[in-house]
Amino acid sequence: MRIILLGPPGAGKGTQAELLSKKLGIPKISTGDLLRDEIAKGSELGIKAKKKVEKGELVDDELVFAILKNRIERDDCKKGYILDGFPRNVAQAERFYKMFNDQEELVIEISVSEDELVRRLTSRRICKKCGATYNLLFFKPRVENKCDVCGGELIRRDDDREEVIRKRFRVYEKETKPLINYYYKKGNYFRVAGDADINEIFNRIYAIIKSNMRRFAERKSDYL
Ligand code: ADP
Ligand code: ADP
Ligand code: ZN
Repeated sequence: MRIILLGPPGAGKGTQAELLSKKLGIPKISTGDLLRDEIAKGSELGIKAKKKVEKGELVDDELVFAILKNRIERDDCKKGYILDGFPRNVAQAERFYKMFNDQEELVIEISVSEDELVRRLTSRRICKKCGATYNLLFFKPRVENKCDVCGGELIRRDDDREEVIRKRFRVYEKETKPLINYYYKKGNYFRVAGDADINEIFNRIYAIIKSNMRRFAERKSDYL
């Protein structure tokens, strides 16, 4: 089964994707993380993507699909995966379904008020080495400025500055929000209120997944 997490910057998609990945034993695929890796490596793709990411604009579909296809075709995605930060617009969704249409799918939107998003994003820190996400206010590492997972240094993302954050919100409203209606019509869309603590949101999302897994299993047994 494939799970798509939708929601504005700072909603908690990456955080929940990580928790779901551990719980369900399927990988988390974050196009943002994959792009940041390429940028850090200074690859040709990374160099092309960098300017857009810094400005808070969407990276060209060609680049996004190149890294995404590469990732999804790996063996660990056969049983399913969690998408965080993809698709970002209807064109990406449509192109995606032409390539990968072999899995049951749930789309879960995490909705959070804008004031809360700004608070979360300005206090977000990520590990320079492994990309793990922390928060100075809401999710502190055990040792100040050190990653719990790998001991790496915690840094602020270049695009987590107030002006770029505002720009990303505008891009979300214009480009990504139409996906809500797109998935609502498709019939596999769920929304959870995201103004609560991390574990509570996880429980809400996991409840949706469990009940749908049951439904998918029943549907499958109908064919037998
Ligand atoms: P997204 O991937 O949607 O941009 P993240 O998962 O990176 O969001 O979360 C944004 C920031 O908010 C991070 O610093 C994260 O630790 C923190 N965060 C995530 N979920 C919550 C929550 N439910 N309450 C408070 N802070 C949260
Ligand atoms: P957040 O969840 O905080 O918005 P992401 O890590 O998902 O951040 O994305 C960071 C940046 O990477 C985006 O502002 C955009 O420039 C680029 N990006 C990530 N995913 C995509 C995508 N699917 N299509 C185009 N650009 C993307
Ligand atoms: Zn780390």
